[in-house]
Amino acid sequence: MSDDKNTPSFEDFRKQVEDLLRNSRVNPVMGFPRGEEAAGGARPDDQDTGREESLSKIRAFNLKPREIRDYLDRFVIQQQEAKKVLSVAICDHYNHARQCIQNQALRESEYAKQNIILLGPTGVGKTYLVRCIARLVGVPFVKSDATKFSETGYVGHDVEDLVRDLVRAANNDVTLAQYGIIYIDEIDKIASAQNTTGRDVSGRGVQVNLLKLMEETDVNLQSQTDLLGQMEAMMQFQKTGKSPARTINTRHVLFIVSGAFESIADVVQKRMAKSKIGFAADSAERQSGDYLKLAQTRDFIAGGFEPEFIGRLPVRVVCEQLKAEDLKQILLSSEDNILTQYKRDFAGFDIDFSITNEAIGEIAARAIGEQTGARGLMTVLEKSFRNYKFQLPSTAIKSFEATRETILDPDAALRHLLNANRDSQRVLLRDEISDFIRRYMETHNLELVFDDAAVDFLVEMSVTQDKSARSICEQKFKDFHHGLKIIAANSGRNSFVITRKTVEDPEGELSAWIVQSFKNAGAGKV
Ligand code: ADP
Repeated sequence: MSDDKNTPSFEDFRKQVEDLLRNSRVNPVMGFPRGEEAAGGARPDDQDTGREESLSKIRAFNLKPREIRDYLDRFVIQQQEAKKVLSVAICDHYNHARQCIQNQALRESEYAKQNIILLGPTGVGKTYLVRCIARLVGVPFVKSDATKFSETGYVGHDVEDLVRDLVRAANNDVTLAQYGIIYIDEIDKIASAQNTTGRDVSGRGVQVNLLKLMEETDVNLQSQTDLLGQMEAMMQFQKTGKSPARTINTRHVLFIVSGAFESIADVVQKRMAKSKIGFAADSAERQSGDYLKLAQTRDFIAGGFEPEFIGRLPVRVVCEQLKAEDLKQILLSSEDNILTQYKRDFAGFDIDFSITNEAIGEIAARAIGEQTGARGLMTVLEKSFRNYKFQLPSTAIKSFEATRETILDPDAALRHLLNANRDSQRVLLRDEISDFIRRYMETHNLELVFDDAAVDFLVEMSVTQDKSARSICEQKFKDFHHGLKIIAANSGRNSFVITRKTVEDPEGELSAWIVQSFKNAGAGKV
């Protein structure tokens, strides 16, 4: 027999599902690097109503290659060739997209999409260039690693997930997502390796699947395995009576793939050595980037790429390895660079952080040793300033300048800085004690009067134990108020003098005070 009271109504079920969806909505780890873009991004759920508005960005596209290059120059140091090539490709792509919106007949005409392949080592700005461009144009952007994908999608991800991620990065604005940018890094890892038993086909399968996306295909917005997405669609249908757009077409999605392509550099080098052309004589000094610049379609095919796949990536450009001087320039002149973030982090604690040019030079020199391009800067900065970030917020120091010495030996420089500020630090610790006394009065209505010796002793403990005076006071006098309340009841007193002896042995002192208060009360003394 079913008990009506215990059977949840459909309404209950609907509410539960709605809560589940609300709580489980995950932010995609991609797209819109800065608030600027998010603000310009599409509104949720407007794929049906916001078509015109979504397309307004593409309709209004009127950037010139030099304008894009100039914008990129503000953020990305070097990579002039890549900036040029990307600027032209982006203008062509979005001009064509705009023309297709204006003239439907054009949609049917042949057009070779300007999908791009960026070659070059890690941390030199490949992703950053594309992020900046997506922000400038105002289109959604997703990044993924090719190594995540498997041919069937059973293991790892399906390449079509990328397109669904793009829709999410566009806040579910399918119309806008159709003009987004998909960036796939480590594409060289899906070159099918040659081995003794023939070709390893796993990479080939992923290439073939990607090929379809890059060309033009309709991707189902709901992955077969995405239960949550299916429920969400059901909810929307229930609410609005309209079923959401089911597919997204990839005709105008721009694909940019990248990788280090070391193996292709080897292929080129071998080819050139064989034909004894080019710079075979000094090949030892050549970097892989020099060979990559000479890579031809046949080299990519020899390196394990399908001819059709590499053929769909007509725009190729090599990003250069960054030198120490470039890394220095990043910190000195590129907008929003990592140092700006450090300055903001310190400013969050009202600390004014500055850094000398010599220190920046030293950071750049060390970052080169990390061999991770500009990412090395983050590593060196983190190592140099981790203790500063931990210590300074609890000190009286409100400004500091990092010098070359700071980078050479951060801990010694920090000790020096703290020593130089010893006196003001003691003032700060005294303030912390006064603060504790004030809060004690507010909470317990009991006045603690620390004598000079007690305060000096607490300050000393704070310095030697590397703990805040506040935490030492809180720990020492944690349960003190219970005893003080008994004394107050016996004597009517609510003000107590704390000496050094009390700080040394709070419990012992308190017990003695309590006993004394009972004795006094018994003897009729207050
Ligand atoms: P990759 O070439 O591996 O794609 P990224 O573009 O992700 O490297 O670089 C990582 C970070 O390093 C960027 O977010 C950016 O802050 C910084 N960076 C890298 N290259 C440059 C550059 N040429 N100019 C300015 N910043 C850069």
